[in-house]
Amino acid sequence: MARIYNFNPGPSTLPLTALEKAQAEFTDYKGSGMSVLEISHRSKDFEAILANTKELLRTLLGIPDNYQIIFTGGGASLQFAMLPMNFIPAGGSADYVVTGEWARRAYKEANIIAKGRLAASSEADNFSWLPTPDAWDLDPASAYVHMTSNNTIFGTQYHDFPALQDKNLVCDMSSDIMSHQFDVKKFAMIYAGAQKNLGPAGVTMAIIRDDFAAKANKGLPTMLAYETHIKHDSLYNTPPVFGIYIMQLTLQWVKDLGGLPAIEAINRKKAELVYSAIDGSDGFYRGTVRTDSRSWMNIPFRLTSEELEAAFISEAKQAGLIGLKGHRSVGGIRVSLYNAMTVEGVEKLTAFMKDFKAKH
Ligand SMILES: *Cc1c(COP(=O)(O)O)cnc(C)c1O
Repeated sequence: MARIYNFNPGPSTLPLTALEKAQAEFTDYKGSGMSVLEISHRSKDFEAILANTKELLRTLLGIPDNYQIIFTGGGASLQFAMLPMNFIPAGGSADYVVTGEWARRAYKEANIIAKGRLAASSEADNFSWLPTPDAWDLDPASAYVHMTSNNTIFGTQYHDFPALQDKNLVCDMSSDIMSHQFDVKKFAMIYAGAQKNLGPAGVTMAIIRDDFAAKANKGLPTMLAYETHIKHDSLYNTPPVFGIYIMQLTLQWVKDLGGLPAIEAINRKKAELVYSAIDGSDGFYRGTVRTDSRSWMNIPFRLTSEELEAAFISEAKQAGLIGLKGHRSVGGIRVSLYNAMTVEGVEKLTAFMKDFKAKH
């Protein structure tokens, strides 16, 4: 059976080579007579998977030695709560840049635990543009500044990051980590749910700078303290074993392609193909995001009526292109172009967009 072109926003398409490798060793992992699903998380085999996954992350992202890498459950959404629990001191606050639904949820959790300060927001314009860092209103006393690099639902993305002086910048990179080159050293902490660019749902990756980790509040429940996961190398309890294994295979695929410079070039090309199809359609397709804030990962657009949008989605499906329905807060169409989506898949989509326009 042929594979379909999967534009789902997350969980999303994974590299076929990673899936095939997992399939080939599924019932008998490296001659153990067991599946990775059945081995101990304290076995030599899993220790090697864990170490190799971390090593791939370190090399591909250029993570310096003074940052620790951990894997947890609970998705990026649990990080929204763990972050303020660990790092906002009693009576203190943290700054939040609210640029979309996930950023808003992170801000909400901060206000349940302690105090979140709104440093910038584009909510009044339905998150259709990004406040630039020079316009963020930062409190010198805040424990950290939280931002979201790519706004998955609204289709905006920060392609560059500020080097904030004397500030701990924390970033939710769930939907664009490993898609382009950036400087890890600008951040005190980065976290990402795996299910967009890193692997399957069920595992979350976090990168934490040592001096920031050392500032964490004491007395938290054990599993909610970053210190526990750092100290026990993500093995305090049973980690998401299979998710980490698939992440390793996915990262190996990125490395074999040529790492971040190569994947960034492919991702730019894919995004350019879709944006040209929108911009060259004489208004038949209309992007919903201000041009300077456009994402390379998620591209929302509208057609001239909801009937036409419904027809677009159903005819696309017949053409083997799925996962294109926009989120209800934007409507219309959303094209998600994560790493594993091929240029060929995007060319199929843009050819379909041309045909659809001609037909309607
Ligand atoms: C998908 C997504 C999340 C939510 O991740 P979960 O793992 O489902 O909790 C958070 N932030 C961003 C930017 C996302 O794209």
